[in-house]
Amino acid sequence: MDKATALHTLEGLNKYSDDPDIQVATIVVNEQAGADHHNALGAWNGWVPDFPEELRNGSTIIHAEVMAIMACARQGLETAGATMIVNWFPCLHCAQLIVGAEFAKVICSEPDIAGKWADSHADALALLVRAGIEIEHWPELNR
Ligand SMILES: [Zn+2]
Repeated sequence: MDKATALHTLEGLNKYSDDPDIQVATIVVNEQAGADHHNALGAWNGWVPDFPEELRNGSTIIHAEVMAIMACARQGLETAGATMIVNWFPCLHCAQLIVGAEFAKVICSEPDIAGKWADSHADALALLVRAGIEIEHWPELNR
């Protein structure tokens, strides 16, 4: 998937986000899945359809990276060796899942080193680097 298509797709997916504060979208691409199979999918931060209404709030919102990994599991898209493109920087929890799902590469914004996510982003960056996951920052994804 080329950069312009990815950026355009993320912008479109963002509109579905359930989070009023930070809209995050994710694309998973696995070129190894082959051209005749579906090799990409998109997700955004929010809740799965059967998530209880009364429990939906800012602290229960499911991060876009988690939603994408769940979608890969449901739709049978292999995450091992895949690339995740996300229009923010993964938090520590999402980085743990990215490592566990054996992604090869993450394309994202620069980590937030001053805001409320600073500690989580620092820990996530250290984990991703230590796990040998390639990280590419696209300035267009910075907020
Ligand atoms: Zn996260």
